[in-house]
Amino acid sequence: MGKTMVKVVNPCVCSTYHADVYAYAKIEYEDGGLSICGVVGPKRNGDCTGSAGQCVDEIRNGKPTEDWTNEMLQKFCDIWERWHLNDMRPYCKHQRELGWVEQSQEKVKVMKWDRTKETWEKARAAEKRAVECLKKGKTFVPTPEETIYANVSYGVTTYNDELPEHPEFYEFKERDCLGHSNVEYKTRGWISHKEHPLGILGKPCPVCGYEYGSSWIKEEVPQDVIDWLFSLPESRTKPAWV
Ligand SMILES: [Zn+2]
Ligand SMILES: [Zn+2]
Ligand SMILES: [Zn+2]
Repeated sequence: MGKTMVKVVNPCVCSTYHADVYAYAKIEYEDGGLSICGVVGPKRNGDCTGSAGQCVDEIRNGKPTEDWTNEMLQKFCDIWERWHLNDMRPYCKHQRELGWVEQSQEKVKVMKWDRTKETWEKARAAEKRAVECLKKGKTFVPTPEETIYANVSYGVTTYNDELPEHPEFYEFKERDCLGHSNVEYKTRGWISHKEHPLGILGKPCPVCGYEYGSSWIKEEVPQDVIDWLFSLPESRTKPAWV
């Protein structure tokens, strides 16, 4: 374990419903991993007037304190959004360059379809006939139609309004038998690439082969960013907690 660098800053004052309060952020850097978390109006009892944690937006909209300018405040928040938890990235540097980070946030409409009643009944009838032949010691020779229906899967999942491969066998119902919706919206980063080409989870990088989301990768924070962060003015006041 390397040495931990810690700094507490007081970049702005935030207006909350109750009062104008100081906002603080704690910057920690250890073993190449950067972590920033904030708190708006920390109180002695451990509570806070505003938000805490990843409250970048609230801090971004605050009024700079005397040691800060708005330009510094905006730059600080940009760094926070870009580099917080840089050692827990699901992508390699090529995937970022290829735009997979943005793509992983794109929403996909995922629909579940069921076999139609008719399809289900035809499959059952074929199975029933096969069992009857078996019991009577007769040879079962399926018709081409029986073979087709016996091979139709129970349900299929489609993405972004595409139709099932054989739409004639399926129907879409808003809800399943338990009342759950059969439509959901998932981001591409959470859809397996094996499941659908739109999915990015597990998709290999064309350059190095790293499969998106298969481990945490460290994305190096540029040294000038670290230098800038640790040269920021130290908070003049001591927060109850941060
Ligand atoms: Zn914290
Ligand atoms: Zn359900
Ligand atoms: Zn790569």
